[in-house]
Amino acid sequence: MIDVEQLRKEFPILSTEVNGHPLTYFDNGATNQKPKVVIDALEEYYKGYNSNVHRGAHTLADKATGAFEETRTLLQKFINAAKSEEIIFTSGTTEGINLVAQTYGKTNLSKGDEILVSTMEHHSNIVPWQLIAAEKGATVRPIPISDKGEIIFEEFEKMLSDKVKIVSVVHASNALGTVNPVEKIIERAHAFGAKVLIDGAQSAAHLPIDVQELDCDFFVSSAHKMFGPTGMGFLYGKEAILNDMPPYMGGGEMIKEVSFDGTSFNTLPYKFEAGTPNIADTIAFGKAIEFINKWGKEEMAAHEAAILKYATEKLKKEVPTAKIIGEAENKVCVLSFIIENIHNYDVGMMLDARGIAVRTGHHCTQPLMARYGLEGTIRASFSAYNTFEEVDRFIEGLVRIVKMFG
Ligand code: PMP
Repeated sequence: MIDVEQLRKEFPILSTEVNGHPLTYFDNGATNQKPKVVIDALEEYYKGYNSNVHRGAHTLADKATGAFEETRTLLQKFINAAKSEEIIFTSGTTEGINLVAQTYGKTNLSKGDEILVSTMEHHSNIVPWQLIAAEKGATVRPIPISDKGEIIFEEFEKMLSDKVKIVSVVHASNALGTVNPVEKIIERAHAFGAKVLIDGAQSAAHLPIDVQELDCDFFVSSAHKMFGPTGMGFLYGKEAILNDMPPYMGGGEMIKEVSFDGTSFNTLPYKFEAGTPNIADTIAFGKAIEFINKWGKEEMAAHEAAILKYATEKLKKEVPTAKIIGEAENKVCVLSFIIENIHNYDVGMMLDARGIAVRTGHHCTQPLMARYGLEGTIRASFSAYNTFEEVDRFIEGLVRIVKMFG
């Protein structure tokens, strides 16, 4: 088991107060907090070796390029990609999915084709597909889920046909916590010749990821859900597929040669990285990966699971008017719920007054909320630095709120 008190010391923000109370940060599903090593990396870069990457013949450019490319290697190992060229830096999960939709989708979809997503997808794994589907005359079809919040696998299998070109599903749901059986989904989709994209925004920092073993065609995630900076992320794609895809954006870095007679494109990964990249945040992202490696993803996940179990049981026992939304067998550390006769937003505001940060609303999953006939939920999402005492404070807060509305 990890030493949570030691882990907390790595995060400057965790010793601050909000509204006169120690911060209890339960909004990790939206973005998690940053350890000092990540924050320091940004300052060190800007103060010590700020320079553009790849092009310079000087010391600073060399140093920046080395640190920048180091993150690619760290990510390659982190998800066990066969080659570092298969890691494309993006601004996050959203950009990764749009990139695939606008390149792979643009060249491989035609009229009548189908794209399968699940009902529990984040909007960023729905809308990019709707945009390309509208352009190509394809359709986006939702895979139904059960009341517990699990994909109904038999329904998914029934939807598979040779019309299905892409299956794009979330690994772990940000709104319910459900961990989807992506191995089985990938295997079944491949049997019909479809390519599979896994949205790993909520899984990369919590679940073991081996893209070669999974055999997914694409995997996307965001640095800011992995103790790294915002506006940064990555796309993994199988080399052969990425090589066949046209570029996404045009500009510097992604070219081999430009002339008015025609332009040739750079090799992977640069073909998909037009323009000056987000250098500082990429370097800091590398520090976040090292941080996860140092503390151990499995060890952190074990603590998160214990926190989730404790919070779930305590909520059921002490707040009987709460209804949990999403009770899948296999979950990451997300506890979504509503409380009878009290508006989600009021709960969020009143918890905030006690220094407790949770998220309320639709969590960018409106079709999922519609599935449950809800506008939104209250979501507490935990990280490895959260404590049992914080859960006690949270439940105590909820009990008071229920009494007040009594
Ligand atoms: N998918 C899931 C499951 C998410 O939780 C999120 C972020 N909430 C996204 C996609 C989008 O990530 P980003 O906003 O970092 O691009």
